[in-house]
Amino acid sequence: MRRGGFVLLALLVGGCSTLNQLNFLSTADEVEIGRQAAKDIERQMPMLKNEAVVAYIDSLGQALVRHSKRRDIRYHFGVVETAQVNAFALPGGWLYVNAGLIATADTEAELAGVVAHEIGHVVGRHGARQISSQYGLAVLLEVVGGGSGSSSISRQIAAQFAGIGAGLTMLKYSRDMEREADRLAVEETYAAGLDPKGISVFFEKLMALHETEPEGMDVLFTTHPPSAERIANVEAAVKALAPKSGLRADSPRFREIRAKVKALMPEIERREERQRKARERRSR
Ligand SMILES: [Zn+2]
Repeated sequence: MRRGGFVLLALLVGGCSTLNQLNFLSTADEVEIGRQAAKDIERQMPMLKNEAVVAYIDSLGQALVRHSKRRDIRYHFGVVETAQVNAFALPGGWLYVNAGLIATADTEAELAGVVAHEIGHVVGRHGARQISSQYGLAVLLEVVGGGSGSSSISRQIAAQFAGIGAGLTMLKYSRDMEREADRLAVEETYAAGLDPKGISVFFEKLMALHETEPEGMDVLFTTHPPSAERIANVEAAVKALAPKSGLRADSPRFREIRAKVKALMPEIERREERQRKARERRSR
């Protein structure tokens, strides 16, 4: 149990860059870790129940997945009922978009860019690689010390995540991983017939918003900070694509869904304000 605590701490602090390429988790291990973490997250975080919104995010996500480079797993999409502007992916194909992010996107292409970026982290197996780099030493010691080998370690890791699933929402990726997820997002949105320019347009919007109203954006800016460099890389990748007519920037369905989410926001914000005040009272 002591090691579990240490590993959780290490996971939250961030990755070790020299080991970023290493991945000792099998696809089955990765899916098992994701499944455990998703169960915890859906218990610990308020999930949006509005069927039309959830179905729309799933259909947008699955449309992008069909054009992704990783099809050996099932992808699951959920919506977290929070005003925080963020989206995140767990290892193994569980992805979440926050209501606050849906309300902040002005077009379907902007929202699709973020969803495709999160799919990119799953395609690149970035979560599995980050976990591997954190657990690498423990595994090495186990193997060298005559332990039962990496597959039993992976099962132990999966079991440990039963308790710390929500920690995975704060998984930090390296700059290279962010770059790869952005590149994959450009390819996926373009292949799915969505305008990939939405990705850089949304980054610019998020950076401007972070200046004017930083509250509600801290998690996004900790885990996937948009930057001028990312915008320039995305714009260059978009320019390199062959011209294609009929790329969709927006849709009536997106506008309808966003209106539904926006209508729910005042209630969500009031609840989060009450919870924040209650936390403050408890900590006093
Ligand atoms: Zn990212």
